[in-house]
Amino acid sequence: MAYQYPLSAPIFEGNEMIYSQQAIQSGQLATAGEFIPQFESLLGKKLKTHQVVALNSGTSSIHLAMVLMGITAGDEVICQSFTFCASANPIIYLGAKPVFVDSESDTYNMSPELLEDAILDRIAHGKKPKAIVVVHLFGMPAKMREIMEISRKYQIPVLEDAAEAVGSHIDGKACGTFGDLGVFSFNGNKIVSAGGGGALIANDTAIVEKARYLSTQAREDLPYYQHLEIGYNYKMNNLSAAIGLAQMEQLEKWVEKRRLINETYRKLIGAIPGITFQNEPEGAFSNYWLSTILIDETVTGFSNDRLRIALMKNGAETRFLWKPLHLQPVYREIKFFGGDTSRKLFKKGICLPSSASLTLEDQEKIVGVIIQELAKTF
Ligand SMILES: *Cc1c(COP(=O)(O)O)cnc(C)c1O
Repeated sequence: MAYQYPLSAPIFEGNEMIYSQQAIQSGQLATAGEFIPQFESLLGKKLKTHQVVALNSGTSSIHLAMVLMGITAGDEVICQSFTFCASANPIIYLGAKPVFVDSESDTYNMSPELLEDAILDRIAHGKKPKAIVVVHLFGMPAKMREIMEISRKYQIPVLEDAAEAVGSHIDGKACGTFGDLGVFSFNGNKIVSAGGGGALIANDTAIVEKARYLSTQAREDLPYYQHLEIGYNYKMNNLSAAIGLAQMEQLEKWVEKRRLINETYRKLIGAIPGITFQNEPEGAFSNYWLSTILIDETVTGFSNDRLRIALMKNGAETRFLWKPLHLQPVYREIKFFGGDTSRKLFKKGICLPSSASLTLEDQEKIVGVIIQELAKTF
């Protein structure tokens, strides 16, 4: 179904057509094309790091990052529970075991206190976690300073899943650059879209070079195919890089627009009792990839599901917040540290249309539906 107000549709109004035509004319659509290093270098410039390798999805980037962290069968890996399945699935690909940690209610991201509880419990059981996966949901920076302090205290490396947070930062330092490794996604509906794509960054050049090598089937520099290691076919292709480059050139514009959309929702419905927003902690800057609200049904008289249906009938696409992984049937046997926070976020939350194409009038129409639901209750 095509929505009049899609949740997060990309806009191609920059050099996307020109660059993709150039990619086709160059005859190089695969992994040797010239747009790939250009995309890597522009992303690196925006993140203020030179250590970037462009890959073919956020999920493959997470998988490769975990391979590089040395995660193997039987290891335990701590992961934020409140996230998309791709943050944790690669732990299973490697035969390792996730340990889920609950969120805190202001950023919706991993609670540093619960993270430390989980680490202490696992160490007491003789299973020191091999890594920590922290996510910046909907673009909102997690409490990275606190989390990195815990990481240093217990000597456990951090993988930052910044798939949703291209353009987000804390005190000017880009999300994805705090951890030992960071990953991004350029999938269809992310803030920068390459059709499909991902990237891996690391604070260590050797790791990035190793990622580059493993992402192209671990080919040795010889006139024939020789392999000393098992590699992956994970490199970004040139056509995606061409589109991704054109999109990346406009990153600041997209971030500004999505922040304006969030600000407008706050202005229009922020004062309604029972409706609350995700909040930036001190120093944090969210790209507000998706604008989300929580609805306290006991106050508003309507649930997130009723609003979802009302908005759908009016051409507006919404989505519930991520269902916590510890509540997913596929992960039912997995250890979880925390309480009710992420479950409640899932129960009450809804992502509102956040496409950069939305106008003020569009947002007023969407908000009109919310006001109508309120009027039905009172
Ligand atoms: C989108 C997303 C991913 C996966 O990225 P793909 O490019 O779709 O593979 C991973 N983690 C989070 C939090 C995401 O939102």
